[in-house]
Amino acid sequence: MTKLTKEEKVLLESAGVVPGQTWGGPQRVRYYAPDGEEVWGIPALREYVVKKDGKIIKQGTRDANLDRWSLSKPKVRKIHCLGCDGYHSTRREADKCLEKQQAILVEWNRKSRKEQPDDRVARLEEKLDALIKALTKEK
Ligand SMILES: [Zn+2]
Repeated sequence: MTKLTKEEKVLLESAGVVPGQTWGGPQRVRYYAPDGEEVWGIPALREYVVKKDGKIIKQGTRDANLDRWSLSKPKVRKIHCLGCDGYHSTRREADKCLEKQQAILVEWNRKSRKEQPDDRVARLEEKLDALIKALTKEK
């Protein structure tokens, strides 16, 4: 096990790591996805350096997980989108996105049917079926 620096310890503590919790592995931190779901993850600590005119103006350690998740519960929950696997602010946006993804798949399907039969079409049809199922289930 690598030894944590003082900064990393502070970062972990501020991230809500419960001290003394033994899960037999690296300490997990509770994050929140944009839709408010709890996600337990191992902090992805990365060194960073910000340079300006060749001089270091800022450096430290950051948790790359915070690019996707946050440490506090989101005040406004976003909607997880099955179309792009991202998050949208409203159900309408998510539905629109899913419909757009479906339209793209239908178009691909149509094109690839012309170009090459069999395998590719079968795979696309599977994907399309899954998307349609997801869309109808969500409503
Ligand atoms: Zn989307």
